[in-house]
Amino acid sequence: MPRLSEIIAALDALWPPERAESWDAVGTVAGDPDQEVSRVLFAVDPVQDIVDEAVKLGAGLLVTHHPLYLRGTSTVAADTFKGRVVHTLIKHDIALHVAHTNADVADPGVSDALAGALDLRVVRPLVPDPTDPAGRRGLGRVCELDHPLTVREFAARAAERLPATAQGIRVAGDPEALVRTVAVSGGSGDSLFDDVRAAGVDAFLTADLRHHPASEFVADRAHSATHGTGTGAHNPLALLDAAHWATEWPWCELAAAQLDEISDRHGWGLRVHVSATVTDPWTAHAASTTTSEALGAPN
Ligand SMILES: [Zn+2]
Repeated sequence: MPRLSEIIAALDALWPPERAESWDAVGTVAGDPDQEVSRVLFAVDPVQDIVDEAVKLGAGLLVTHHPLYLRGTSTVAADTFKGRVVHTLIKHDIALHVAHTNADVADPGVSDALAGALDLRVVRPLVPDPTDPAGRRGLGRVCELDHPLTVREFAARAAERLPATAQGIRVAGDPEALVRTVAVSGGSGDSLFDDVRAAGVDAFLTADLRHHPASEFVADRAHSATHGTGTGAHNPLALLDAAHWATEWPWCELAAAQLDEISDRHGWGLRVHVSATVTDPWTAHAASTTTSEALGAPN
């Protein structure tokens, strides 16, 4: 049975912590390096439901994408929700390890897993890591579809292939426009609009898009397409907004498979699990009963 320190060394080789953003908080949050581990659980969020699942499973290590403490703390008292998480972990000898922006930029990383779930062919990173001479690491991915789909069809594919959430998939732009190339980025992607514009793709699938950036982005691309000005005479670009959790969850399956393979190679005999618990904070969705067509608005 491997010790925690051996597993962490293998995870750090997959997602070197020094490649995380400077503001990020990755690495081991709790755990005794000398403790032996036989079961590992992967999840997106280090919340109480997930830690309870790790307890039930008898896991010795929980690996999450999101950090527990991003900005530090002065208390782990069990009457705070994060303190309760820490208490539960330590009481049950469960280590917590975080791979966040270091997993985003990895090859393969979070957006490769998202592209894989959507059956897309990855062409290159959307924002290449300048320190990678091979040009394979970086943020987001520029991808191709094997045959063109309308935005509506591509959104339906995303809704079908990504884990189900209350939000589903929101679309901005013309639902009947054709998609041949698409940029994807797991998690919050609206800081990447300039890179998406420069990539000249037909669509961008990500999460957490806000009104003003989305509205300006779609309007700018529609204007460029009509007038042949701006960043290029492409089709108007469509935005697809999925639930943040759903865009990052496919990485858990990828990461679990990577650790499984390492375990086989070393003869560790680890049992590696992926949590299917939906930890997206949005729990219900009510579709409007009045459609835009009924209001007489152009769609
Ligand atoms: Zn995230």
